[in-house]
Amino acid sequence: MRHVDHFVVGGAGGGAGRTHRVWNPSTGEVQAEVSLGDAALLERAVAAAKEVQPAWAKTNPQRRARVMFRFKELIEANMQDLAELLSSEHGKVVDDAKGDVQRGLEVIEYACGIPQVLKGEYTLGAGPGIDVYSMRQPLGIGAGITPFNFPAMIPMWMFGMAIAAGNAFILKPSERDPSVPVRLAELFLEAGAPEGLLQVVHGDKEMVDAILDHPDIAGVSFVGSSDIAHYVYKRGVENGKRVQAMGGAKNHGIVMPDADLDQVVNDLAGAAFGSAGERCMALPVVVPVGEDTAERLREKLIPAIEGLRVGVSNDPDAHYGPVVTPEHKARIERWIDTAEAEGAEVVIDGRGFSLQGHENGFFVGPTLLDRVTPKMESYREEIFGPVLQIVRAADFEEAVRLPSDHQYGNGVAIFTRNGHAAREFAARVNVGMVGINVPIPVPVSYHSFGGWKRSAFGDTNQYGTEGLRFWTKVKTVTQRWPDGAGDGSNAFVIPTMG
Ligand code: NAD
Repeated sequence: MRHVDHFVVGGAGGGAGRTHRVWNPSTGEVQAEVSLGDAALLERAVAAAKEVQPAWAKTNPQRRARVMFRFKELIEANMQDLAELLSSEHGKVVDDAKGDVQRGLEVIEYACGIPQVLKGEYTLGAGPGIDVYSMRQPLGIGAGITPFNFPAMIPMWMFGMAIAAGNAFILKPSERDPSVPVRLAELFLEAGAPEGLLQVVHGDKEMVDAILDHPDIAGVSFVGSSDIAHYVYKRGVENGKRVQAMGGAKNHGIVMPDADLDQVVNDLAGAAFGSAGERCMALPVVVPVGEDTAERLREKLIPAIEGLRVGVSNDPDAHYGPVVTPEHKARIERWIDTAEAEGAEVVIDGRGFSLQGHENGFFVGPTLLDRVTPKMESYREEIFGPVLQIVRAADFEEAVRLPSDHQYGNGVAIFTRNGHAAREFAARVNVGMVGINVPIPVPVSYHSFGGWKRSAFGDTNQYGTEGLRFWTKVKTVTQRWPDGAGDGSNAFVIPTMG
């Protein structure tokens, strides 16, 4: 059995000896086991990080950027292997796994520009003979706790920015697909990073709590489900850390009567069912505006969904693969039961799906539910599977209200040919990321990623200048160089520039 170990200075040994199984979701077999670490292991990682971080922070930004440039080249050279490894543990198809790596790589590309983005501000002559300048300094040691659904992209969102800014970084990836994060850390070392700058500790709640309680970890970035995000946020902040914690989602796609429905159906199929719906920016709720739009959309959606090909993750013709674990498959199917019991119409039923030749794989067939209402629990909660729900809205106002009133506020999309309606919607909707005729509006790496409401706790987004702000603290210097003649200043009265 393959074993996945921690990637810490001084070797992976130690820890309580607990392990967690890593599935191959396509076959339903356990393909590896991963070590689960404890506080003692974290202590070793923190000690190594403390050792290396001050010199890294002193290394000029251009040299730090060169490591990022070499890392980028190594990722590109290893793209196929990384994607195959990722796909075998996660279950997403290989091309989609390449997208997972690529979207993380784009943050590394942004981090290559760290000399430019780290420049501070300067005011000459803020007062008589007084200049003021500010600088951004690293926090010291940062940690990232990441979910299973983007095992390459999300770690790179975090450590790309944190390390380029001068921090050392400890990554605690999901125990469900831990191999790619370790591979990234190996490649980072090969790119010329000093040993200990990026370490990977595996684990579950025990390790997460150790991170949240460790006095030498100054910043924690979390991405996962909302209840755990909230818990991580509270415990981390209580311990004096800077914390950003992204949570779950239930993204809506609004379809206006004038939308190009063929385009919408094509976009929806990928956004709702791609990666088996296990994306925080998936579109699991579609909101046609008006009964006529709903009927026309439903008519086109049914054959498109029935035509989807579910396959093993390395089937090049599959639209999507299995879900991540047998427990998750069972949970998704229970949500379909709940929706049915709540009165939703099960138009296409993906329960009990079995793939010939891979009967033990964790597959869920594509599912379409109609006449879903905001009162239903299956609407209010995240399903995180290949299930598309139709919620019919009477008019534009109701379509703005639905995503705005939902507990989650990660992403939302509107499909229309009417620029005025789109502009109005983008301005008014109570959601953090908006797509206009763009089904998955994940912002590019030089903007930033973050939802609202229960989709994100904390006030700083991931990557871009927001990410830089999160991983650095501002120091502001007010200076004067008196010429000895005396300027009559008097600090008994609070100094002003007046
Ligand atoms: P999860 O919350 O189960 O796990 C996330 C991390 O928390 C993992 O590293 C896990 O080991 C750790 N963890 C699990 N249980 C814990 C506990 N009791 N205490 C402390 N830590 C614990 O999430 P997941 O199933 O891996 O990922 C899917 C979820 O992540 C979905 O809700 C999805 O919407 C969300 N997500 C959000 C974003 C975003 O940016 N908003 C992005 C991707 C995924």
